[in-house]
Amino acid sequence: MEWEKEAEDILDHIAVPPMMAQFVRMDAERRALQKGQSKVTAAHARATMKGYERTFGCEVTDVIRRMGRGEDVGLPDAFFEDDDGELFKIDLCPAKYGACTAEKREMMLAVLVPLREKLKQLNATSIVIEKARTPLMSHHVFRIAIIGCPNCCMSPYFNDFGIICQLRPTVKSEGCTQCQACVTSCSEGAITLQNGSPVIDYERCVLCGGCEKECKQEVIFTKEKGYKVVVGGTGSRHPRIAQTVAQWTDATGVTAILEKALTAYHEFPVEKKEIPFHEMVCRLGVDVLRLTGARKPGTAATTESAEKRNIFQ
Ligand code: SF4
Ligand code: SF4
Ligand code: SF4
Repeated sequence: MEWEKEAEDILDHIAVPPMMAQFVRMDAERRALQKGQSKVTAAHARATMKGYERTFGCEVTDVIRRMGRGEDVGLPDAFFEDDDGELFKIDLCPAKYGACTAEKREMMLAVLVPLREKLKQLNATSIVIEKARTPLMSHHVFRIAIIGCPNCCMSPYFNDFGIICQLRPTVKSEGCTQCQACVTSCSEGAITLQNGSPVIDYERCVLCGGCEKECKQEVIFTKEKGYKVVVGGTGSRHPRIAQTVAQWTDATGVTAILEKALTAYHEFPVEKKEIPFHEMVCRLGVDVLRLTGARKPGTAATTESAEKRNIFQ
């Protein structure tokens, strides 16, 4: 595919979250290809730029530009720590650059900080070293993904340990103007208007929290927040999707599951052949990693305990 110089220049200055940068040129080429053209023009490059601005919002692209200029953008430093010298890596979804809501970032931060502390306290790096039987390489790194909502813009299911923030919407009985914004915005079709008020079908709802921000009347709001924990995924030679260990827990529950998982790995018998973490999870099954007394969202106990500990504020 040929490229106009102006198209190259435009995309040299595009502001997207770094994990998306690899897709920018391909997106411009896609636009040319789909129009039957063999050269990427400035028009294709501008369309690519607009597409990403629409997807992430102008605020995010502005934040990324300001970060590029070295300005303080007011996002938590913890989001950008590299964990250099460690054999664990924590990735966060594009919300870390200001995409989506502050509420989701607060949830991500509330679990990120104790999780990083726990990884250091458990000496996760030493555990990985102890288990390795081949020269240390990137596939040895214990990978953790923290995702701001179940849209999963960056899949936690191919990581050793994945955490998905969940927001359960609730409705007030009064104040709905029947504008339909919530109904049309829910891609799961989980909201209907009945007798002038929204009704949420929790069998369909994936707990993304998207409807709350659509409702300007604040008829829909988030009362409960929790984390889903998935463990044992890998995208390596024998790909495996992480399995769910907890459907709904708090930050303390997440770190407790991490501790169980790393302790199990530490204690897992060493064999001549290397046993990666995901292989151990496959052999042991995830039941041994579950916490006792886990509750489902929407029960009085969950709400009460959450409010008592002030963890979902
Ligand atoms: S996963 Fe959710 S919170 Fe994260 S960037 Fe995607 S939509 Fe936003
Ligand atoms: S939280 Fe997400 S899936 Fe659930 S009703 Fe709202 S928009 Fe739909
Ligand atoms: S967005 Fe809010 S006001 Fe509009 S229909 Fe839904 S609940 Fe009613």
